[in-house]
Amino acid sequence: MSTTESAVVRDTSILTSVDPATGETVATHPIADEQAVRAAVAKARTAAATWGELSFDQRKKHLLRWASRITAKADEFCDLIYRENGKPRDDAFLELMLALEHISWSAKNAEKVLKSKRVSPGALMSNFAAHLDYRPLGVVGIIGPWNYPVYTPNGSIAYALAAGNTVVFKPSEYSTTIGNYLAALFAEANPELPDGVFITVNGYGATGAALVHAGVDKIAFTGSTATGKKIMAAAAADLTPVLLECGGKDAVIVAADADIAAAADSVAYGATMNSGQTCAGVERVYVDKSISDEFVAEVKRILSNVRPGSDAGASYGPMTMPSQIEIVRKHIEDALKDGGTAVLGGPESVHPPYIDPVVLVDVDEKSTAVAEETFGPTVTIRTVSGIDEAVRLANDSNYGLGSAVWSRKHGLEIARRLRVGATSVNSVLGFAAISALPFGGVGDSGIGRIHGAPGLLEFSRAHSIAVQRFTIPGMALLSYKRTASTMKLLHRVIPMIHGRHK
Ligand code: NAD
Repeated sequence: MSTTESAVVRDTSILTSVDPATGETVATHPIADEQAVRAAVAKARTAAATWGELSFDQRKKHLLRWASRITAKADEFCDLIYRENGKPRDDAFLELMLALEHISWSAKNAEKVLKSKRVSPGALMSNFAAHLDYRPLGVVGIIGPWNYPVYTPNGSIAYALAAGNTVVFKPSEYSTTIGNYLAALFAEANPELPDGVFITVNGYGATGAALVHAGVDKIAFTGSTATGKKIMAAAAADLTPVLLECGGKDAVIVAADADIAAAADSVAYGATMNSGQTCAGVERVYVDKSISDEFVAEVKRILSNVRPGSDAGASYGPMTMPSQIEIVRKHIEDALKDGGTAVLGGPESVHPPYIDPVVLVDVDEKSTAVAEETFGPTVTIRTVSGIDEAVRLANDSNYGLGSAVWSRKHGLEIARRLRVGATSVNSVLGFAAISALPFGGVGDSGIGRIHGAPGLLEFSRAHSIAVQRFTIPGMALLSYKRTASTMKLLHRVIPMIHGRHK
């Protein structure tokens, strides 16, 4: 098979996963039909009775053992990620490292975030004890993308497991072997657990669609906005709650007082690493006019020495999903048609399965290259007259996932004006590596949060319990025994509590 053909060979019952650089078969997997998906969910439902009843400490032990097993198998795992996904082995290792950090954080913090808490019942209900409990949802269906085939779905998997749920995971058709390896390591690390705590179903979109309808208690999806919308519509039929981690068109603001060399270094890396196939990668840059020429020249200089490939010296690998290559090519062509200039590369930079770095300046803001997710190693840079213009243009997007600000003095202040889920100040992507910080977007970038305490709450059901400890004579509010004198008293007390503020 040539490298320009589909990286996944279609068959109705078997999914053949291939190396995106060479087209060689990596592995084959039976495709799960609707019946197989339902059977997997039933198995996970049975396992949930055991896993959900374990103490936080017991679950922590199992999750940390899984992390140790991943660590022990890191070389083998990185090799598989390199072959099935195309990214360099060092990038694969960084991805594993971040996933391990999240497994550890979710395991160690689940109790603190989710343990039962006593809350104040308030003056009028002072005869009650109020308990706020968090319970697992049950079975969580997780549908993943291919670009960070471990780190990204793990943001849902680890947190759902730590919160006491079992997981049925449908990996992307472009990273099926990787997804199955992740689940196999969990089972290997925890042989005494019932089968079904963390299992996979394999296949294309139809398998994912079957999972949405298989009676799971939540769907956690990471992938494109278009698929996210379909999943939300399908989930509405059963009122199945959804977590949607979708695409982005992340902007970087480089202020007049930025460290130009450091900002250029970060932008060059954030735009092209992983072949630009990063949901929160750098796609657009707004740079102050006073430093624009120097900044663009520095980005160009750095990226002139960056090249894709599958050899040990390559900075990033091939495009994993062949259909994305044409989208990247079209965005570059549109940018040039729409008034932009390529200061590095151009349409000729696209030579499947690789794409060289492309730097485009002053492209019309309505061009697809600026308005839509490109998901390739390209970046647009626009010169702006100051921070107000930069913030306005950065926020003028349907997406709102990550972002970055470069400024020596005003980074935090500028960050707080952005309509996004996360911002890195004087770095790119810093937020994605800090386990305690939630990750997710607004608008077309999705709904809900993975990571951090919100990531654990996302996979839990709040259960409010009000316990009446004693009755207050004459204060039977929730009873037909309520008397006229009780109401008279309330008419006197309520203004004293709520009517004093001028
Ligand atoms: P995709 O939407 O094509 O596929 C994602 C998953 O959904 C795959 O497993 C696929 O098989 C499945 N799927 C497809 N159709 C389905 C349907 N109708 N019902 C249920 N499941 C279905 O996305 P992709 O190409 O795998 O991933 C790239 C996209 O993911 C980019 O847009 C990227 O920005 C986004 N992404 C977002 C985040 C984030 O955290 N926000 C992280 C990584 C990637």
